[in-house]
Amino acid sequence: METETRIAAVGFAAHETGGDLSRWSFNRRAPRPKDVVIAIRYCGICHSDIHNIHNSWGYSRYPLVPGHEIVGEVIRVGTGVDNLAVGQNVAVGTIVDSCRHCGPCSNKLEQYCEEYPTLTYNGIDRTSGETTFGGFSNILVVDERFVHPVPASLELANVAPLLCAGITTYSPLRHWNIGPGYTVGVVGLGGLGHMAIKFTHALGAYVVLFTTSASKCADGLALGADEAILSTDAETMQTQANRFDFILDTVPVAHPLNPYLIALKLDGTLCSLGIPAAGLDFDPGLLAAGRKQISSSGVGGTKETSEMLAFCALHGIVSDIELVGFDQIPDAFERLERGDVRYRFVIDIAMGPAALQPAPA
Ligand SMILES: [Zn+2]
Ligand SMILES: [Zn+2]
Repeated sequence: METETRIAAVGFAAHETGGDLSRWSFNRRAPRPKDVVIAIRYCGICHSDIHNIHNSWGYSRYPLVPGHEIVGEVIRVGTGVDNLAVGQNVAVGTIVDSCRHCGPCSNKLEQYCEEYPTLTYNGIDRTSGETTFGGFSNILVVDERFVHPVPASLELANVAPLLCAGITTYSPLRHWNIGPGYTVGVVGLGGLGHMAIKFTHALGAYVVLFTTSASKCADGLALGADEAILSTDAETMQTQANRFDFILDTVPVAHPLNPYLIALKLDGTLCSLGIPAAGLDFDPGLLAAGRKQISSSGVGGTKETSEMLAFCALHGIVSDIELVGFDQIPDAFERLERGDVRYRFVIDIAMGPAALQPAPA
């Protein structure tokens, strides 16, 4: 029952396809019994934010408030909330609801909901039919199922990117049981790639970074990679055949997959997270020659997200970030497009001349 009043919010929205973000006042839904109200402190900038602003996937609705790597503090809880309390630091990722009764939802794999999950922004609220608005904002109303307590030992701002870049890489590494004795390749060193190296290293596997940039080889080693290989070096690439159990490809643009299929061992898997719009470029014959597989994976569900945060607390893992204010977003988008960030931009909502007022408790 929506007996309460709606929650006044302020954020930054695109009002048309490809439009610049500007300050925008709007309302969040009236909190339901299982909802918590969160004062947002930080929100990561994901490459998909840029895609959605530009309607790259054809389903953007405007005004569009991006942001799905959200951390903040609980400032209100509904009467039916069991597991969260006012004052707690929490995180919200890419999904804020799902059907909750299909097979994947029953197993807390809500990202694979057969009725499609409700996205944190540019989604449709399953009850009211309203558009959802993301974390480039000062306040959020979310059902507690999709809200994760943040371990106290982790720096809050650096936790934000774990909710998309982090879980998107952690989930496949866990699904394919990566651990000691495995040799894993990570292709690309951006927001996803840097998390993939940290997780793979902490899981005890041998990690090899493939990058097209000589300067990123040294960065990869500093992040925990055991080796870094320049993928443009054809001679070295030829020596990689039949070496890898698993390769996590984080590159979002089309590129030849054949060198990586050759690098896999018998029964090895290449997991492509980038899903390039132009499709995958590979020779199917290479799959037959070694019973190899190409697969993919999408973010992570609530169970695995909680598990990832506990794993991060245990191993002291967070994202490497660069804090920005809302006034710096055009510059951040432009730098993100050319891969010039180590390794994730995170908006501090209280920073700079465009700072938002913290949400009132
Ligand atoms: Zn994302
Ligand atoms: Zn479902």
